[in-house]
Amino acid sequence: MRTVHHWIGGKATTGESTRTGPVWNPATGEQQAEVPLASAADVDAAVRSAAAAFETWSQSSLSQRTKILFEFRRLVADNMQRLAEMISDEHGKVVSDARGEVQRGLEVVEFACGIPQLLKGEYSDQVSTGVDLFSFREPLGVCAGITPFNFPVMVPMWMHPIAIACGNTFVLKPSERDPSPSEFVAQLWAEAGLPDGVFNVVHGDKEAVDALLDHSGVAAVSFVGSTPIARYIHQRASAAGKRVQALGGAKNHAVVLPDASIDHVSDHLVAAAFGSAGERCMAISAAVTVGPGTSADELVAAVSEKARKTKVGPGRDPSSEMGPVITAAARDRIVGLIGSGQEQGATLAVDGRGITVPGHENGFFVGPTVIDHVSRDMDVYREEIFGPVLSVVRADTVDDAIALINANPYGNGTAIFTSSGEAARRFQRGVKVGMIGINVPIPVPMAYYSFGGWKDSLFGERHIHGPEGVSFYTRAKVVTSRWPRVDASFHFPTAT
Ligand code: NAD
Repeated sequence: MRTVHHWIGGKATTGESTRTGPVWNPATGEQQAEVPLASAADVDAAVRSAAAAFETWSQSSLSQRTKILFEFRRLVADNMQRLAEMISDEHGKVVSDARGEVQRGLEVVEFACGIPQLLKGEYSDQVSTGVDLFSFREPLGVCAGITPFNFPVMVPMWMHPIAIACGNTFVLKPSERDPSPSEFVAQLWAEAGLPDGVFNVVHGDKEAVDALLDHSGVAAVSFVGSTPIARYIHQRASAAGKRVQALGGAKNHAVVLPDASIDHVSDHLVAAAFGSAGERCMAISAAVTVGPGTSADELVAAVSEKARKTKVGPGRDPSSEMGPVITAAARDRIVGLIGSGQEQGATLAVDGRGITVPGHENGFFVGPTVIDHVSRDMDVYREEIFGPVLSVVRADTVDDAIALINANPYGNGTAIFTSSGEAARRFQRGVKVGMIGINVPIPVPMAYYSFGGWKDSLFGERHIHGPEGVSFYTRAKVVTSRWPRVDASFHFPTAT
């Protein structure tokens, strides 16, 4: 059985803890590796190594950091296929999709390569006679990242390239369900010339996470995962005095107006709902049709036809369009929720339960599922299913659709399909959601903008990567300097 390693102080190690967890191959249902689950002592070793490295890394010049970032960028690009295959083997998504994930992570590295520009301060000359005022930003110290299973390379890359470029050191606690790519990314950082201890990886579960949240040596925590855990991380790490950004779950609605092309929209809905088996935080999980029932019926028919044609199979098979879900437990939960939709009065237009993939009978597969006539009180609507399930909710007007979205506790992403600029503008101004697509189903911002939802999709006040990422991983200093010196006086200083 292959063993995955932590990466602490520039070395692979299995640590002190004897607890381990299984890493499954979701396409076959077999265990393929064992991951060590770190103890508090293992986490302490990683934080200490990061704290020691911070002393020198925080003093490194922008030129030195930029050289390493460019080299890391080259290595990630050169190893894109290998990373994509590692992702596919443990997550289950198809390799072409995994390449897209690496590409989007790489774009954050490219953004971080511009760190000298991003860290430029402000300078005001002669604010008072002989007095200048300037500001600049400094790194925080040891930053921790706790990440979900669904993007094992991209989501950590939303964090560590920027944190490290800003002069921080980093401890990553990736998902224990697909841990191997993180060990490989650590090797790439080392090969790029990053000093030992600047980037560390500890694998584990709640025990490792709690140790990071409580550790006095950790200055900031970035979390991405489900809403209950995001809320917990935000509360516990904030109580320990740390800076926290905690991105949570989602229920993303796509509103379809009657003036949109059914063929075009149904293509996009199928890709956005079933791509990566629906295990994307920006997946469309609810389609909201606006207008008369006939146009909704036509859309459901078109989506259902395309859903049935989706090629489900192992992620390594180039002909597969959709792979398995992450674990047997995830599959069983999704299957249970589909059943609840039926019991609670919805119509199963396409039922993906019970699918078998020849040669992969024990894989964790669920087929694309379309549930029509869903109402807001049903479990399939209220719960984040995180599987290949599209619910269709019918609304009479755009304002009804906006009200539905705004009543939902999540506010990650949403989209509208229309040929009316006026309706799109009304929508973009009216929805209480962080990321909005207009004829774009999955509106993930580019790396040089920041990513983040509203409401229960994000706790903390900074979004991730882009300018807000640089702000999150640094704090400001403002200097007031006077040359030549003048005599002191007792009154409150005002400009002269
Ligand atoms: P998860 O919340 O179960 O796990 C995320 C991380 O938290 C993992 O590293 C895990 O080990 C850790 N963790 C799990 N339970 C914990 C506990 N009780 N105490 C402390 N730590 C714990 O999420 P997941 O299933 O890995 O990922 C899917 C979720 O992530 C979905 O809800 C999805 O919407 C969300 N997600 C959100 C975004 C976003 O940008 N908002 C992006 C990707 C994924």
